[in-house]
Amino acid sequence: MTREEFSAIYRSIVPAHAYREKNGVGIYTIPAFSAYPDIDHGFSARTGGVSEGCFSSLNLSFTRPEQRENVMENYRIFCNAAGIPLDGIVLDTYEHGTTVLCVNRFDCRRGYDRDPLPFCDGLVTDDPEITLITGHADCMAFYFYDPVKKGIGLCHAGWRGALHRIGAEVIRTMETACGSDPKDIVCGVGPSICPKCFEVGDDVAESFALAFPQCDLLGENEKGKATVDLWQVAAAQFLESGIVPEHIHLMGVCTFEDERLYSHRRDKGRTGGMAAFLRLLPDGGKREDG
Ligand SMILES: [Zn+2]
Repeated sequence: MTREEFSAIYRSIVPAHAYREKNGVGIYTIPAFSAYPDIDHGFSARTGGVSEGCFSSLNLSFTRPEQRENVMENYRIFCNAAGIPLDGIVLDTYEHGTTVLCVNRFDCRRGYDRDPLPFCDGLVTDDPEITLITGHADCMAFYFYDPVKKGIGLCHAGWRGALHRIGAEVIRTMETACGSDPKDIVCGVGPSICPKCFEVGDDVAESFALAFPQCDLLGENEKGKATVDLWQVAAAQFLESGIVPEHIHLMGVCTFEDERLYSHRRDKGRTGGMAAFLRLLPDGGKREDG
């Protein structure tokens, strides 16, 4: 794909998101994903939980120096507000890599109150009994749904994972495990640090420019430092994998700028974590509160 071709497609993607609150718990969604009756998805805000201080208040990360009971209680609060059965959650064990695991109902509660999964940044399933969950605090969440084969994928795409095309790895796994055809797969990108706020060193900037020559992803901020557009990196790897342009959806929400979200960069590491979730609905139908 030439730079002109990619640029024309990328400009045609209009970022969109929705936000709702229940019991004080905020949830971001992708409108195009909400239109499908047989899946449920979302991304947590930092409101409505029991954590205090820099973790205030809905910290959903077990890897921060915070009391485990608080995070467990936050999961109960979050799952209740989001309408997710707590018994079916499966958490990733991210390491900023590109490992994708297929999981099913036998993995329920792993990473919550059962043994964590081996290191993995991506999860794939066709099991409607479970809810895939990935952790985030500036890093992108990629959502994948195949409405034909009824398979889903979700991954944590930090800059390293995005650079090494974890999105392509999830799509490949869905092809193998679910029999998916990429042209049927719908992709979404959750809140993350935006093109303007993601400042990088020159070496990282150069790695991205070399890895994605079809993109115009480098910028410069007011301090004269290089910036990278991770949302283009997401779209580029989806397109390379055979995803059709109309099936690419970006939320366009910046974790660094939105006070309702935790940001590892903005909060200089002293912060909590958010969760992305995606599941197939067991009866193939929509929950009444959408
Ligand atoms: Zn931003």
